[in-house]
Amino acid sequence: MHLVLKFETKTEHNNNSYDVIREHKSLAENEGSVWWGKTVREGKSGSGFADKRLNTFNSQLDSNIETNVYLFENKPGEKAYQAKVLNIVRDFKDIDIDKLPNYYKENAETTNELFIELSEIHEVDRSVTLESLERFDSPEDVGFVKSFQDGQSSRFYVRKRLEREFRPQRISDQFGEISGLKVGSVFKDRKELFDAGVHRATMAGICGSQEIGAYSIVLSGGYEDDFDSLDRILYTGHGGQDEKGKQVKDQEFTRGNKALSLNMEENLPVRVIRGYQVENGPENGYRYDGIYYVRNFYTEKGKSGFNIYRYELTTDQSFQYLKEQLEDTFKEDYELPERTEVFSTRTKRNQRIVKKVKELNSYTCQVCGEFFEGVNGPICVGAHIQPLGLIHEGPDVIENLLVLCPNHHELFDRYGFYIDENFKIQNLKQELINNEKRKLRINKKHKINPKFLKYHREKYFEITLKSSD
Ligand SMILES: [Zn+2]
Repeated sequence: MHLVLKFETKTEHNNNSYDVIREHKSLAENEGSVWWGKTVREGKSGSGFADKRLNTFNSQLDSNIETNVYLFENKPGEKAYQAKVLNIVRDFKDIDIDKLPNYYKENAETTNELFIELSEIHEVDRSVTLESLERFDSPEDVGFVKSFQDGQSSRFYVRKRLEREFRPQRISDQFGEISGLKVGSVFKDRKELFDAGVHRATMAGICGSQEIGAYSIVLSGGYEDDFDSLDRILYTGHGGQDEKGKQVKDQEFTRGNKALSLNMEENLPVRVIRGYQVENGPENGYRYDGIYYVRNFYTEKGKSGFNIYRYELTTDQSFQYLKEQLEDTFKEDYELPERTEVFSTRTKRNQRIVKKVKELNSYTCQVCGEFFEGVNGPICVGAHIQPLGLIHEGPDVIENLLVLCPNHHELFDRYGFYIDENFKIQNLKQELINNEKRKLRINKKHKINPKFLKYHREKYFEITLKSSD
């Protein structure tokens, strides 16, 4: 059994602000250990810590069983730490006061209900850690992570999920290539992948965090909507499935799904691993297939009718290179995907018409009417109204293009507004100083086909209604 606690990052005392972790960590490093006081909760009497629990902890500690405390900063998205528990006591008299941070020495006796002696305090990845834990008494309680994040409970007794498989996080996660790791390397199982630092999550398909981005993904055939032509992947986000892997509800824009969207925004590399379960995967085990980038993402109704997140990934490795690197590992009856050519030409944009539409609109955003210029010339985007690509299949023609500044491009793509039948800009929250009528600015020679705007509008309502349910 381990303990999970939440804490405030900073604490005020005598008009000074203290960094709670820094204070405890430095004392632990100097003294070998430090006492962590658990504050009495307001309005609650007694220690709130059952004898039964204390006895369990004490017998674990007596038998030298590794006992940890996981310390989470109070707000979702903040940091998390892990430390080794050496002792747990209720009585202030049982602690060594020299190992108590100075700032709360004088108040500790009255404001704390429990003291935990800690050593080896170190930061861990918040989402990976949450994922590695389950409630001690009710492992089937899948709402554990969520209720914990929402702050409905401040204390949990946990154990590690798959205790034997999951190793504490010592090597830090990293983006990009791993030195010495060749494209086409095959690993026996998920544990080997984990130990090699290739994919540091033993169960999840997406490894990373919603604050940092995704380091790696595993394609293991768990989602019916996945699509893969080796150099191009349409990857389904996580969530919404029952135990049998059937999609039974909408996916949410949290954790791994949010992480992958950050990869797109910040152009962060993703390591791709294919499992033996998928057609393009190896005969056995899991294979590292190199670095890919998230080029696009959106929500869609999946085959089963629920909203899923979809991520388009491509690689800078050529199809030919991949084929050569991976050839030896393919399944016996394997046939290379034929679709690759189709995809790459379909999504290759016609730069000539983009240039033309920009010229027609004087490189000015059709929504805000602003002209932006950098050292290399005007800054604006030729944006497809009905997107190109695997699902939307919008055509690459001038009638399907708008000229937008980067902000309005993003807002348009992510349904921050829509354009109605009269070309009026609707539901955009910001003011448009250079376009007070809030009507799309159009050059007569740039004919926009209303059917594409209608397509965008329909998506807009589908998605915004969905998310306001
Ligand atoms: Zn604009």
